[in-house]
Amino acid sequence: MQIFHHGDSRRHDPDRYFRRGAIVEHPERAERYLLLLEAARDGGHALHEAGDAGLDPILAVHDAGYVTFLRDVWERRSALPGIADEILTGHFARPQMHRRPEGLLGLIGLYTADTSTPVRAGTWAAVYGSAQAAIAAADAALRGSPTYALCRPPGHHAYADSAGGFCYLNNSAIAAERLRAATGGRVAILDIDVHHGNGTQGLFYARSDVLTVSIHADPADYFPYFAGYADETGVGPGEGFNRNLPLAQGSGDAVWLAAIREGLSAIAASRPAALVVALGLDASEDDPIGALRVTTAGFREAAGLIAEAGLPTALVQEGGYLCPALPRNLAAFLDGFR
Ligand SMILES: [Zn+2]
Repeated sequence: MQIFHHGDSRRHDPDRYFRRGAIVEHPERAERYLLLLEAARDGGHALHEAGDAGLDPILAVHDAGYVTFLRDVWERRSALPGIADEILTGHFARPQMHRRPEGLLGLIGLYTADTSTPVRAGTWAAVYGSAQAAIAAADAALRGSPTYALCRPPGHHAYADSAGGFCYLNNSAIAAERLRAATGGRVAILDIDVHHGNGTQGLFYARSDVLTVSIHADPADYFPYFAGYADETGVGPGEGFNRNLPLAQGSGDAVWLAAIREGLSAIAASRPAALVVALGLDASEDDPIGALRVTTAGFREAAGLIAEAGLPTALVQEGGYLCPALPRNLAAFLDGFR
């Protein structure tokens, strides 16, 4: 397995998070990058620091105004009296009020969906580096061997023009679009993070050239709440090219692996040229914010099933939070993919 990562991933390290009315420790810490990198290295995989493919592959997926905002907002912080170590708002745009305001505080509310995505001094460097790892992994996947992008921060909750759910740039979508452009064929995304890949769904919802399949805990009572239901199947030319497989909270290996088999069969039927796996590890039974009960053996078996699809594949890291099982589950997945 070829592993792509970017050292700037550690430059974004939010320490606090507003959850259910309380300020708690932010789950998406820079330490995740170091632990996952160590697990990949210990597994004997080849590590590569991602190069710089520039902004174009990012702008192929994201809104230019949003990308400029992310890049520049920290430098513009003097417009926000009282800002110390991070930029965050409590005022968010709703679909029925979506005017683009002039002021910075309003723009933050327009371009973020919740309080989980503060911008700090190193945030842009980290999210840009994370996207570059996904781009490098996509490019290398077409050269023959499966690849893994150690993306951090994660990406699958980011829409074309908004951050949310710890995500800023949608790394899996950027990789998929890169593969689609290079192959000229359809690309499939299999999202096995415990949370629905709502940003990815939003990006490709009206398109037939990217099939999105997401397997996740039922959003009826779980993040991201407002999307991820089985009846969301795409729109217009994209009708039939979005598949959601919500699972009851507490589901274990048998149910999860059956859903992966079902997702893979839909993917095979769409005859894709390449595959992106949005590899969240937070379906783990040990994950501190998870809702499913997948074991290390389950992750290993899932990897084997996905590898059997025989497609050029880029694995893109999504969620999976600090616990002793996190590096172990990555190691098992990468090993199971061989
Ligand atoms: Zn997740």
